[in-house]
Amino acid sequence: MKNIILLIMDGLGDRPNQELGNKTALQAARRPNLNRLASNGTTGLMSPVSFGIRAGSDTSHLSILGYDPIKYYTGRGPFEALGLGIELKSGDIAFRANYATVKDGKIIDRRAGRVKDTDSLSSDLETEIDGVKFIVKSGVEHRAAVVMRGKNLSDRITETDPHSVNSPPEFARALDHDAQFTADVINKFLTRSRKILENHEFNKKLISIGKLPANEIMLRGAGKIPEIPSFKEKYGMNAACISGTPLIRGIAGLAGFTNIRVEGMNGRVDTNYKNIISAAVSALDKYDFILINIKGTDIAGHDRKPELKKYVIEQVDSVIGPLLERLDNTLIVVTGDHSTPCSYGDHTGDPVPVMFATNGIINDNVRCFDELSVSTGYYKITSNDIMPIIMSYSDRAEKYGA
Ligand code: ZN
Ligand code: ZN
Repeated sequence: MKNIILLIMDGLGDRPNQELGNKTALQAARRPNLNRLASNGTTGLMSPVSFGIRAGSDTSHLSILGYDPIKYYTGRGPFEALGLGIELKSGDIAFRANYATVKDGKIIDRRAGRVKDTDSLSSDLETEIDGVKFIVKSGVEHRAAVVMRGKNLSDRITETDPHSVNSPPEFARALDHDAQFTADVINKFLTRSRKILENHEFNKKLISIGKLPANEIMLRGAGKIPEIPSFKEKYGMNAACISGTPLIRGIAGLAGFTNIRVEGMNGRVDTNYKNIISAAVSALDKYDFILINIKGTDIAGHDRKPELKKYVIEQVDSVIGPLLERLDNTLIVVTGDHSTPCSYGDHTGDPVPVMFATNGIINDNVRCFDELSVSTGYYKITSNDIMPIIMSYSDRAEKYGA
């Protein structure tokens, strides 16, 4: 049996970029180690969740790990909150939140200039209203999670994020009669929060240095926590996760993974790539299955920066040399969780390259790892197929039949 490292470069898939001579970021990147891995295994294209689906990171990671999102996905809020270390209880409603900038009653930046270190804002927004406790925790950059804990709460409410600039921030509305109390309490929370943020020292400081204030908190993705069977139960493997992204840590935690902390890992493009791979190699002694998520590729895609996406891929490539020395006993799987083309600035349903590399399996004549080269490889699969293939190549699968 072999151990497994599953390296997911978030939003890896790309489309041709004019700036890169009509190449994808992966095609344009210097990537000798990724190409060497491809030469040591089989490759193909993988459609996250299913063909043509514009998957989110949450639904795609669930599906890659063998959890049908149709059954287990209850909205992004619970996943984000879990990843920030908030312990959810049954009946809790969790939201994703964004700090945003409002000027003259209209949103002018949905990410408040990608503000950082908002802990002091979040802790001052925590409160209790009409018997409902509000837990607020900051995430990476402008992101946060808000959890409501109390009686008679419903997730049947609208988002307060209008998803566009130049619109006024919204209040929550009840989607059915039972949700009216929840909507009323949220709106009291929002009114209170707006006052606090407007006068907060943190924001005054931002304005004084010419930056955008984080004077609005927008809520979306309301949901209740799902119960899912553990990865150990499903596959008999001890699993660990290495990710600087709260959402991914949350999903892994839900499936019973140990989340490993790494010095300098931050879920941004300037994360410590070297430490992440070193931590994964060390973890092979203790764990059968290690999931790594690198977020920078997705961030660059959303920001429409092909050069930056190429840079992130090159950073990853430059540190994965040690994985090549492990191919006797380890199956290295590299893929993305969806495409985030720089030309589109968001997730698309395009398939992503995938490769399964280990010594002793057939090479499918593919020697380069990119969207086009792997299209001549073995596989045209969906994310549902990833775990069965992993189990087989790692010599862990049970025989189906006699
Ligand atoms: Zn993603
Ligand atoms: Zn994304």
